[in-house]
Amino acid sequence: MKTISVLGSTGSIGKQTLEVVQASRGKLKIYALAAYSNVDLIEEQIRNVRPKMAVLMEEEAAVELKNRLKDQTVKILSGMEGLIEASAAEEVQMVVTAVSGSIGLQPTLAALQAGKDIALANKETLVAAGELVMKTAGDRGCSVIPVDSEHSAIFQCIGGNRDKVKKIILTASGGPFFGWNKEKLSCVTPAMALKHPKWSMGAKISIDSATMMNKALEIIEAKFLFQTDYKKIEVLVHPQSIIHSMLELTDGSVIAQLGMPDMRLPIQYALSYPERWESCFETLSLAGKTLTFHEPDHEVFPSIGLGYHCGGRGGTLPAVMNAANEICVHAFLAGRIQYLEMFELVERTCQEHKVLDSGSLDRILAADNWARQFAEELILRKEQDP
Ligand code: NDP
Ligand code: MG
Repeated sequence: MKTISVLGSTGSIGKQTLEVVQASRGKLKIYALAAYSNVDLIEEQIRNVRPKMAVLMEEEAAVELKNRLKDQTVKILSGMEGLIEASAAEEVQMVVTAVSGSIGLQPTLAALQAGKDIALANKETLVAAGELVMKTAGDRGCSVIPVDSEHSAIFQCIGGNRDKVKKIILTASGGPFFGWNKEKLSCVTPAMALKHPKWSMGAKISIDSATMMNKALEIIEAKFLFQTDYKKIEVLVHPQSIIHSMLELTDGSVIAQLGMPDMRLPIQYALSYPERWESCFETLSLAGKTLTFHEPDHEVFPSIGLGYHCGGRGGTLPAVMNAANEICVHAFLAGRIQYLEMFELVERTCQEHKVLDSGSLDRILAADNWARQFAEELILRKEQDP
């Protein structure tokens, strides 16, 4: 039996993780659940799952949860200290990082420092601090197992071929605006951008998919997970989302992982690895299906190019790109900026950043913070003078 903590249990990945735990019939046990402020859902989850600990990041929400759960023995904590305690507790073997955004960085590092393996959904953490996270994992002998479907696919294909990889081909659905031009994109609303054609996901990653920033983040995530060079990572648009990614080996052989677009499979694999467990998810039937592939349109969706640029430059720049993007996505969702302005403002924040070596957590947090403030100022200026 494996004991896990789930950070972000009330989100899309978190809820599916709890389904996988339930279906595991005792192979997985939950020690802690953590979320931001969703008292109703985490209360329900606690009553079902009966974890030893629960964390709500927001203090007031945690107080409300404590009041509601007076009949339970669960320990309830709040804030970053709470997230860290849930990640580093002695009983925990693996932490599922499924919070959204670089807020996941400190609990992930704390988990690794305490010797826990990570099932990583929270790609923003690896974008912000890939070097530090992977070095900490290496030093402590911990595994970082991908949950992201593309990276899970590569992880499943790579086997004993690590030194024979010629290319990592990350597939991309293309999002809801695949094939659109800039003129059409100028009229995109948050509701339109939230409607992903293939995956049902949280708001932030849905917007990232609609701008292809998700793929920019995933290029950087792949670089660190598989310790490869950006030159070896390619993106291929595959609207059906059946092939979750591919690996080209030095002899020209291409290995792919296929499956239904259902995150429960990569979640379960990250939790069961190195075993494979039976599942009751819908399986793939290829008869009658057409799979298509296209080059990404870098002119209409400049995010992928920005991802290569920031990743290639390295240091604190990927953390800045990620943080500026988080701010812009939230501003777009709140109706404060237009869809196309997200590209412009993230890029401007990256251009203005004085890149530093990303060796320490303090440096990364300072760069992340700087980018948030800078992007927010740009948004305020836009609001004042549209
Ligand atoms: P959701 O928005 O659905 O859920 C986010 C979760 O994180 C919620 O539990 C939320 O709590 C919690 N949370 C948000 N902010 C904080 C915070 N500051 N402190 C503590 N908890 C917080 O996101 P997804 O599940 O879609 O995505 C989670 C991560 O997984 C992201 O990094 C995403 O990129 C990645 N991912 C997601 C995929 C998907 O299919 N959804 C696929 C691949 C990767 P509350 O509900 O209380 O707000
Ligand atoms: Mg993905």
